[in-house]
Amino acid sequence: MIDLRSDTITQPTTAMKQVMFEAPVGDDVFGEDPTINSLEEKAAEYFGMEAAIFCPSGTMTNQIAIRVHTDPHTEVICDEKSHIYLYEGGGIAYNSFASVRLLHGDRGRITAEMVKDNINNPDDVHAPISRLVSLENTMNKGGGCVYDFKEIEKIGQLCKDENLKLHLDGARLFNALVASGDDPKKYGKTFDTISICLSKGLGCPVGSLLVGDKDSIKMARRIRKVMGGGMRQAGILAAAGIYALDHHIERLTEDHNRAKTIAENLKDLAFVESILPVETNIVIFRLSNNQLATDFVEKLKNHGILAVPFGKHDVRFVTHLDFSDDMLDELIKKIKTDINDPFRKN
Ligand SMILES: *Cc1c(COP(=O)(O)O)cnc(C)c1O
Repeated sequence: MIDLRSDTITQPTTAMKQVMFEAPVGDDVFGEDPTINSLEEKAAEYFGMEAAIFCPSGTMTNQIAIRVHTDPHTEVICDEKSHIYLYEGGGIAYNSFASVRLLHGDRGRITAEMVKDNINNPDDVHAPISRLVSLENTMNKGGGCVYDFKEIEKIGQLCKDENLKLHLDGARLFNALVASGDDPKKYGKTFDTISICLSKGLGCPVGSLLVGDKDSIKMARRIRKVMGGGMRQAGILAAAGIYALDHHIERLTEDHNRAKTIAENLKDLAFVESILPVETNIVIFRLSNNQLATDFVEKLKNHGILAVPFGKHDVRFVTHLDFSDDMLDELIKKIKTDINDPFRKN
């Protein structure tokens, strides 16, 4: 099977498993896991921020950040395609009792002007109090597109002027950094908190980090505990994270190049109506003739290719650490012949 459902499906490499095997561990709820402590320091330093906290998932780091920054009666401003809104089970309401203001950005990327136009009058008792802006980079639903940092800076300045907090869902931030060449420390200066995933493009089995200032992360520890996310000798998992930060960032370019090659080969095929521009490791294409994505994905599966439906007529491929050049060649051969052949039923 060629599995392009997500960059979460990767297996830990032999070298990664070796460092996990050898990791010194302790009880992290007592703050005594040396490997988790090093990972948290490393992540904070990478962004030039004060502190970080290791959590089981990106959903948890995002939800903790939202809980840290908001209160009941307040509102989170984000794009309507945001993971925090679409794919976290309604957690903004459930965990934080906060309201959401949904903006319609360019493939999920919002602007400072849009944010400005959606800040509520704090003296109007009808309206929730605007408190937090949340961005996502890369934008999953937007086909892995990357923010122009200049726009992020404008949003950051607006948030400072308007006394709003700014959070980044950076589940795939490393893809954005590698594609844009931006300095992670600029991100650290602009955002109040940043969530990053180790279990996506970086190829770890488990783990996300929330990075921020000391006070936010101290509060995050309290919230992680109440959510049941306090882990014990989880340094075994953190070791994989340290390894991935050292060895798996630069190589994301390979995933990006393979995704671009897939898109180039898809663009003239009969079953493809259109493709979102490919900037990183995600390829989202629309099917021609109103073909249903669920049917098409089933057809792919019959030919040994796994993908996910991403809307009624849209299909998503995600390239990753376990998708090689050989698999790329095989994929292209299959989609050009078996899948594209109009005279074959299956
Ligand atoms: C995967 C993902 C997350 C977090 O997902 P988990 O599976 O909970 O780790 C958050 N935001 C985006 C954009 C993602 O793609």
